[in-house]
Amino acid sequence: MNFDLSDENLQVKEMARNFAEKEILPHVKEYEQAGKFPKEILRKMGETGMFGACFPEQYGGSELGFLNLAILAEEISKAHPAFGYAFNMQAMTCPFTILNWGTEEQIEKYVPRLIQADFIGMFGLTESGGGSDAAGSMKTTARLEGDEYVLNGSKTFITFANEADVGVLFAKTDLNAGHKGISAFIIETDRPGFEAKPIPITSLGNMMRSCEVFLEDYRIPKKNLLGKEEEGFKIAMNALDYGRLTVPARLVGIAQGCLEESIQYCNERVVGGNPIGEYQMIKHLIADMTVETDAARLQTYRSAYLKDKGETATRESAYSKYFASEVAAKATRMALEIFGGVGITDEYPIMKYVNYANMLHFGEGSANIQRILIADDALGYKNANRHHIKRKFTLSSDIQ
Ligand SMILES: Cc1cc2nc3c(=O)[nH]c(=O)nc-3n(C[C@H](O)[C@H](O)[C@H](O)COP(=O)(O)OP(=O)(O)OC[C@H]3O[C@@H](n4cnc5c(N)ncnc54)[C@H](O)[C@@H]3O)c2cc1C
Repeated sequence: MNFDLSDENLQVKEMARNFAEKEILPHVKEYEQAGKFPKEILRKMGETGMFGACFPEQYGGSELGFLNLAILAEEISKAHPAFGYAFNMQAMTCPFTILNWGTEEQIEKYVPRLIQADFIGMFGLTESGGGSDAAGSMKTTARLEGDEYVLNGSKTFITFANEADVGVLFAKTDLNAGHKGISAFIIETDRPGFEAKPIPITSLGNMMRSCEVFLEDYRIPKKNLLGKEEEGFKIAMNALDYGRLTVPARLVGIAQGCLEESIQYCNERVVGGNPIGEYQMIKHLIADMTVETDAARLQTYRSAYLKDKGETATRESAYSKYFASEVAAKATRMALEIFGGVGITDEYPIMKYVNYANMLHFGEGSANIQRILIADDALGYKNANRHHIKRKFTLSSDIQ
């Protein structure tokens, strides 16, 4: 067993950090005030090869693998968690689902442009009836009419739907078949019948918008079906499984951001004649944050390592998603304690970390849902491993 990062891993980390220091951190206020995502920065990120980390060269990927993906996600999310979200969408959720389940034609048409951020992606699963029961609550329908599917219904909390060019979206082709009636589609947002309305979420700022999506007699060619009809639930669960690698990495980025900001502040802030870092109770907070962030990172790296070996790592990803969400939530609370009053002002990024840590606590499978999966698995209950789905692509064996 080797816990050392390779020279390549360290270079990737440095590249992401340099990118964040140059392109993200100095311009955060300007981006936030603009009220929309700075797509030109996403394109620059695409040019570095970041989004292509887990994609084969033949589709424009950089083949850096899952461990480097986790390293990149951590650094970008530390700089700004909204960029962490965009990173996930462009590097994993949308294009990777197409790579894993798409036809050659679909992969060639969408993947290279998504990982270059020439197309902005979205992922449309959640509906208003409850994200934790995505299958049971799904009311959006798709019916085949000649050579087209006609979609009707609505989705909620679909991030970047207002800016997206393409997306993976789920709808029921058979309303009476429960989760087995769900199919997946590659949608193009410039077609009539698609509307996205941003949901006001002041706590997350104005840059990244999550939207209600309305589909009214929205038509898409039959060839835009992703996978087979009624394979949608499997596809959604498989996509979330991969998301549970980058989400913990982004949570580690938030915890690490809280730690670095706190260390700097502890050394600068003098109260009662001493830098506050010299007070024992503050030291406890720094110690807990340091150790817990490190543990969450190691768990995240383990699932990345397993994925790089071609294993599904479903169990390990559920552990790390759950654990990292607890660690990040605690780190934000400890950082607030260290900063005192100024922690809630716009002068420091702590509240941004707080709000995104809260969001990621339930996003892509809430802490409760992770606990259920983990406990079912530990208890050996039947169906516990229902999310174990073999992926088609491994870095070593290329597309099968
Ligand atoms: C800012 C933001 C961005 C998002 N982006 C996207 C996106 O791009 N695409 C997308 O498809 N979705 C997106 N989502 C939706 C997100 O995935 C859901 O919020 C998440 O799945 C939880 O669903 P919910 O909010 O409906 O909570 P609910 O399902 O209503 O759950 C509420 C609470 O009940 C608990 N609960 C539910 N069922 C159980 C159970 N059986 N046992 C124990 N506890 C339970 C949950 O853990 C949670 O604590 C986004 C959400 C937000 C807030």
